[in-house]
Amino acid sequence: MSRKTRAAAARLEPGRRASRRGIVHLVGAGPGDPELLTLRAVRRIREAEVAVCDHLVSEAILSLLPAKCERIYAGKERANHALPQDEINKLLVALAREGRRVVRLKGGDPYVFGRGGEEAEFLAQYGVDFEVVPGVTSASGAAAYAGIPLTHRDYTAAVTFVTGHRRNGRCDLDWAALARPSQTLVIYMGLATIAEIGENLVAHGRAADTPVAVIERATTSRQRVLVATLADVAARIEAEHIAAPALVIVGEVVRLRERLDWFDTARLLGDARSLPLAS
Ligand code: SAH
Repeated sequence: MSRKTRAAAARLEPGRRASRRGIVHLVGAGPGDPELLTLRAVRRIREAEVAVCDHLVSEAILSLLPAKCERIYAGKERANHALPQDEINKLLVALAREGRRVVRLKGGDPYVFGRGGEEAEFLAQYGVDFEVVPGVTSASGAAAYAGIPLTHRDYTAAVTFVTGHRRNGRCDLDWAALARPSQTLVIYMGLATIAEIGENLVAHGRAADTPVAVIERATTSRQRVLVATLADVAARIEAEHIAAPALVIVGEVVRLRERLDWFDTARLLGDARSLPLAS
């Protein structure tokens, strides 16, 4: 039997699955627009045998999974964890131990506020092979599609990513550092705590009229961008019923949107730059 035939026969052998080594691919699905997936992400998604998905992953991306791929929803929403993190970790190990090719699909980049680090640690601890496929984090996606460069020599010397998520009941951030001028602040999961964040930044010296952008469903056909100031952003979010997922960008760079917006303008004009998109 030639090597080629042997390999083909081995592929057909029943029970081959269990003897094969499984692997977990931690794949960044980006902020929504499927065209922001990397080539490697697309390849891993198309080869998936089982996919464990976050709620932030768009339908358009899920539709790239093979029809026979098993899908497990591990959605995570504030105060509504479909599967607790330790169960997700155990599930990934169990699926890989069945010898399967597991794709763990996560919104944005797996290593930016996505608990990808915790999942990778767990896999490493249990000796499971894994790979991390970076994705476009929502800060990059939202900034590009809202016309707000995260850094610009005329306005910023630094950009900081923080989470607005409360820990032990409060938003525990280094306010003095974050309130310094000439920096862009990007807040993930910040809608629920934006009033507290705005007040603290102003109390620590950031100007109350510092511009703030809130980008809802960035990079999708339902993207909405609200531009406000530190003083009134919380009230404006409420008035305009902005809902998660939304990203907050604080800093002078927000003013550039007036000149650099291309996406919302393209959508208004029905321009090809805004198509095709995830809903
Ligand atoms: N790993 C993800 C972040 C997960 S935390 C990443 O790299 O982007 C979830 C938070 O990300 C949301 O609360 C929101 O602040 C932000 N986010 C994710 N997708 C978004 C989108 N399409 N539009 C706006 N914000 C988004």
